[in-house]
Amino acid sequence: MKIYDQFIGKRPNLSFEIFPPKHDDPLGDITAVLDVLCALHPDYISVTCGAGGGRNGEKTIAVASMIRECYGVEPLVHLTGWGRTKIQVDEFLSRMLDAGLVNVLALRGDRPAGERGDFPHASDLIRYMRSRDDRFCVAAACYPDGHPEAGSRDDDIARTVEKQRAGAEFFISQLFFDNDNYMRFMDDMVTGGVTTPVCAGIMPVVSKAQIKRMIGMCGAVLPERFLRIIDKYGDDKDAMLDVGVQYAIAQVIDLCARGEERIHLYTMNNPQVARRICEGVKNVIRR
Ligand code: FAD
Repeated sequence: MKIYDQFIGKRPNLSFEIFPPKHDDPLGDITAVLDVLCALHPDYISVTCGAGGGRNGEKTIAVASMIRECYGVEPLVHLTGWGRTKIQVDEFLSRMLDAGLVNVLALRGDRPAGERGDFPHASDLIRYMRSRDDRFCVAAACYPDGHPEAGSRDDDIARTVEKQRAGAEFFISQLFFDNDNYMRFMDDMVTGGVTTPVCAGIMPVVSKAQIKRMIGMCGAVLPERFLRIIDKYGDDKDAMLDVGVQYAIAQVIDLCARGEERIHLYTMNNPQVARRICEGVKNVIRR
């Protein structure tokens, strides 16, 4: 089933992001995560994929197949274009179709290094996929706090519109912590020409180390209010767990109240945190 169809007349929508087992960890390790997440009945689960042409996403496809076949939940397969050739992408997509997978989040990839391959920008990958096969539902990323390499918000939104023109059917936002800014971003997206659904990316921050890592990577802005909380509770592991869960719950409720009812939870493969958040919003998200 194409995920886009979930957005027609059905709101709210709740989805999760997970990553496949790292390095040589066995694939079966993910079942402990999926057992809990799938019991929360998400609308879809996205599975990340390493950048570059290296191992070509075998584990991503394997985990996505497991989500579909063993748990009956719709998977969204991340595919990074940087460093990949058209032949590699063709091979990836045909392995997806063989496994009955049709939903793709088309991305450039994190921190590109080395050969750029045939897809220097996400829009190149989206355009290519669209020219090859109309069986896929293609999603793309957008950035409420701006992509770290973008010259300006206008530039960034123009690139987002380019992805829509290339064939992206919906967007998932980068994580953010300031809902007011997200609402301004959404207004600017509409003014800029974005007409497709957008899922708001929420990440529960449950440790101080996670914050440093994350901000370095994605450039999300931490509001003063959040910084104050981290300042006070950052060194207390248990308190940080409460903080991360409660902040995420408050964000989700506020977004839903403002009409942004498509929530994508970055679970970081921590199903207990996801479970606590889902319990906290169970009557808000599932009306
Ligand atoms: P693009 O849309 O190509 O944009 C990248 C930069 O280039 C932006 O600054 C943009 O403004 C600019 N740009 C775009 N098009 C052009 C153009 N034609 N000419 C000039 N400049 C242009 N990374 C992974 O490696 N694996 C994952 O699984 C993964 N999952 C993600 C999931 C989500 C929901 C999000 C938000 C991000 C994810 N990322 C992942 C990170 C992502 O790969 C990085 O944010 C990356 O730096 C940009 O990817 P993009 O698809 O947005 O790139």
